[in-house]
Amino acid sequence: MLLFTPGPTPVPESVRQAMATPTLHHRTPEFEEIFKEARERLLKLFVMDECVMLASSGTGAMQACVLNLCKNKALTVNAGKFGERFGKIVTAMGKELVELKYEWNTPASLNDVKEALAQNSDIDALFIQVSESAGGLRHPVEEIAAYVKSVDSDIMVVADGITAVGVEKIDTTNIDALVAGSQKALMLPPGLAMIGLSSAAVERIGEGVDYYFNLASEIKKQQKNTTAYTAPTTLIIGLNAIFDEIDKEGLDTLYKNTAKRAEATQAALESIGLTIYPRTPAKSMSTVIDDDAEAIRKLLKTKYKVNMAGGQDHLKGKIFRINQMGLIAVHESVWVVNAIEMALAELGRRDFDGTASKTFNEVYFKEN
Ligand SMILES: *Cc1c(COP(=O)(O)O)cnc(C)c1O
Repeated sequence: MLLFTPGPTPVPESVRQAMATPTLHHRTPEFEEIFKEARERLLKLFVMDECVMLASSGTGAMQACVLNLCKNKALTVNAGKFGERFGKIVTAMGKELVELKYEWNTPASLNDVKEALAQNSDIDALFIQVSESAGGLRHPVEEIAAYVKSVDSDIMVVADGITAVGVEKIDTTNIDALVAGSQKALMLPPGLAMIGLSSAAVERIGEGVDYYFNLASEIKKQQKNTTAYTAPTTLIIGLNAIFDEIDKEGLDTLYKNTAKRAEATQAALESIGLTIYPRTPAKSMSTVIDDDAEAIRKLLKTKYKVNMAGGQDHLKGKIFRINQMGLIAVHESVWVVNAIEMALAELGRRDFDGTASKTFNEVYFKEN
């Protein structure tokens, strides 16, 4: 079975091997060395001043940002499940909320942000996804972040990059916190969350806002290459192993190949009459809206052995999402669009003639 869900993503063999080594004690010079290496590589990935690793799923890091970076009132962008989650966390943590809501294919508008800030001078933090995974949507985060900082540089800009860090180069100039998770673009098992931080964010983080997600004490420990509580040692060993894999060709090649794969997949899907759902597609996944979405997904899983993701809530049964994150062999991506074309033939939609894989190859291998 090919795992083509936009998280979790497949874990490369070398990474699984690295994580199969005997358990280390976390309070040892041996592990501190491993932690130091992972930390230095993470800082380069984020291109930010500071970073912190947490033993939690990605949502834990989202909550840690709400707790540590928003004092009273948050502005959140809800164009899908994960944007909605920021709002729910803000409310659960007892802070005030202004939420901008969009259909799941629609990127946040700068004008709406302008208006919300004009009407609520007490907003002290913005929470937004770089890539909203519910519909595979890319928000104009850089533009919005630049505007927010031009209005008031004290407003903290928190970007959820769980399906963007490791997918594309993100301009972090105006971003204070950038969240990443292990099981998406970083091709690791679930359970490790990471946050890239600006020095302004580090300054803002107060003491004692939370016990487990106390980023102030966590950062102090991690600067000394240790953690406040037991570190997820296996996942951090895996993180170094995935960086080893990525470094074979370099981060820029990973970004370039991911973008090409997303572009070629989109062209292939459109060439066989399918409709891309988001107005501004993210590079992390390709999302199709179709009345036969569930039938196509089922055929792919049972007959062609490809596991894609469906939709949630009002999009359940209406979309399918194909992963583009990570180190994906190009022949696997060709197989996926080919299998979709075969499924369409099986459903009586169009005759199979190899258009999807032909288009994919033409776009992916075109000379730039
Ligand atoms: C997967 C995902 C999350 C949540 O991560 P968990 O690890 O399930 O907590 C948050 N934001 C985005 C954009 C995601 O894709």
